Amino acid sequence: MFDDLRDLYQEVIFDHNRNPRNFRVMENADRKVEGFNPLCGDRLTLFLKINGDVIEEASFQGSGCAISTASVSLMTEIIKGKTEAEAEELFKQFHEMTTGKDEHFNLEAIGKLAVLAGVREYPARVKCATLAWHTLDAALKNEQQSISTE
Ligand code: ZN
Repeated sequence: MFDDLRDLYQEVIFDHNRNPRNFRVMENADRKVEGFNPLCGDRLTLFLKINGDVIEEASFQGSGCAISTASVSLMTEIIKGKTEAEAEELFKQFHEMTTGKDEHFNLEAIGKLAVLAGVREYPARVKCATLAWHTLDAALKNEQQSISTE
């Protein structure tokens, strides 16, 4: 990765950590799932409003490190307006990007989420980045209990 691109990516992560998007409790959420990454201490609660099979709204509460906060903030932005199937596909692409054996994740599909591609170089931080997505996966499967990355 070029240094200037890395700087840009870090700037996006810092921005989402300082000013998380959709950081609020959602009243009357259709889905609410808590996620916990004991490795780092990241905790979040994800709220979804679903109409038919479309994610109309997504928000979160919680506290975690910069990577986990930026990841869930970016995720709530990108899944809004997506169908459940499209969100599951994004989860697969994101998982492939952060943990995959090959570099051929779909950059076009992943869009802005590419700012988190750098975590694959830091195995200890991968769970910080994927916590939001594992929590989303549980919410989409309508598993209402808490999830843990361990
Ligand atoms: Zn973390």
